[in-house]
Amino acid sequence: MFINGKWEKAEDNAQFEVFNPATGEMITRVADAGPRDISRAIDAADQAFPAWSALTAFQRSQYLYLAWQLMMEKKEDLARIMTMEQGKPLKAARNEVQYGADFLLWFAEEAKRVYGQTIPSARPDQRFMVLKQPIGVVGAVTPWNYPVSMITRKLAPALAAGCTAVLKPAEATPLCAVEMFKIFEQAGIPAGVVNLLTKLDPKPVGQAFVSDPRVKKLTFTGSTQVGKFLGREAAGHMKRISLELGGHAPFILFDDADPVHAAKGAVLVKFLNTGQACISPNRIFVPRSMVEDFTREFVQRVKAMKAGNGMDDGVRIGPLVGADALAKVENQVKDALDKGARLLAGGERLTQDRLERGWFYAPTVLTGVTPDMLIYREETFGPVAPVIAYGPEEDVVEMANDTVYGLAAYVYTKSISRAMSAFERLHFGIIGINDINPTSASAPFGGMKESGMGREGAREGIEEYLETKLGGFSI
Ligand code: ADP
Repeated sequence: MFINGKWEKAEDNAQFEVFNPATGEMITRVADAGPRDISRAIDAADQAFPAWSALTAFQRSQYLYLAWQLMMEKKEDLARIMTMEQGKPLKAARNEVQYGADFLLWFAEEAKRVYGQTIPSARPDQRFMVLKQPIGVVGAVTPWNYPVSMITRKLAPALAAGCTAVLKPAEATPLCAVEMFKIFEQAGIPAGVVNLLTKLDPKPVGQAFVSDPRVKKLTFTGSTQVGKFLGREAAGHMKRISLELGGHAPFILFDDADPVHAAKGAVLVKFLNTGQACISPNRIFVPRSMVEDFTREFVQRVKAMKAGNGMDDGVRIGPLVGADALAKVENQVKDALDKGARLLAGGERLTQDRLERGWFYAPTVLTGVTPDMLIYREETFGPVAPVIAYGPEEDVVEMANDTVYGLAAYVYTKSISRAMSAFERLHFGIIGINDINPTSASAPFGGMKESGMGREGAREGIEEYLETKLGGFSI
């Protein structure tokens, strides 16, 4: 743990184990924070707030620049730790570190652009002035699937805005967080400004974040179920919250799209991080007349993907995070097959070449997926691509919108008017139009409906950590 500028053991020296999901081996043990540790970390952030928020934006920006430089220098180390602890292929881990570093750079710059405004008054003797001020201490909870970039996506704007923070990373991936905090320490960020609590049971930390009056804001990325729970608790104390939750992305081909080109894109985005991404396509809508051409290309590419330890060359499919994740995928596939879906690839746990030591599931393609199947509604978070055929009589945008989620959607078409119409009608926060990577530190990321509230990255990302204050001056 990193509390008030010092690396610490947990009270009573409690620890928990961290495992490599590709091999099942224990990597190391980390501190398991106790109730006093949680309170001390919040206290440190609270004590550090007045001085940190009083620095100029230019001064805070310097720390973020330095952290960005250090992160770039340590890119390879961070990527290797990520692959070991989280399982994604090393190349994907390097990409994530780069994406994570981008937030430090972006918000180092954005820190200096926290503009207020003056507003004309109807009264000649009155002036209005609007100030943006940091909210205060932020409690941040991050997930295991993007264990580096989710940290910077929250902490960089928080620090840029003048907030201080306590971070609780996911229990499966605390080592990436420890490495990130070494960078913050090396960048000279003053004691107490950022604090790290590693903990096996997240609940007491969540409870403290939503109920401790010193914490003014909760930022959370994780499941919709936990997000709703924390949202309800936070409402009792009227805390500010940002929630980035689950998704169930549609991937729509219109009948003028090139099925081969679309299949290439769909494979890349579907199997990214072994499907463990909130923007992962969960329903691939293909015109009935194009299903054959699309699936031929898609399946061929899926079958060529190698599963294994992310440290090995050529591996495209890493392990799932654990036993529960594997069971969920197995259950959804079984349910779909029982209800009449067809299996075109995969469909089983992988056990050859010692893969049984980890949590591997074969990249899987299902066709004939229908609304009565679990996979049509539930987020999969695994390497399963469900293909849904639709007919000319059906409104595919309406079908795509038929979900409680609203994070990402993808559209393939050559028609500008179809693209524009789908972009406007889809109820999702992020729409890729012939584009499978509509994300960047400079673009707002976040969802509608049960995918959460608030945006991360971009100009919007820093707003989440600011209060708006109005001054009315009689002169
Ligand atoms: P996933 O299904 O992706 O693991 P979770 O929502 O369970 O999603 O986990 C995402 C993050 O939320 C992790 O850091 C986890 O420890 C944390 N978390 C889970 N339950 C709680 C809770 N009750 N309070 C605070 N954090 C929680």
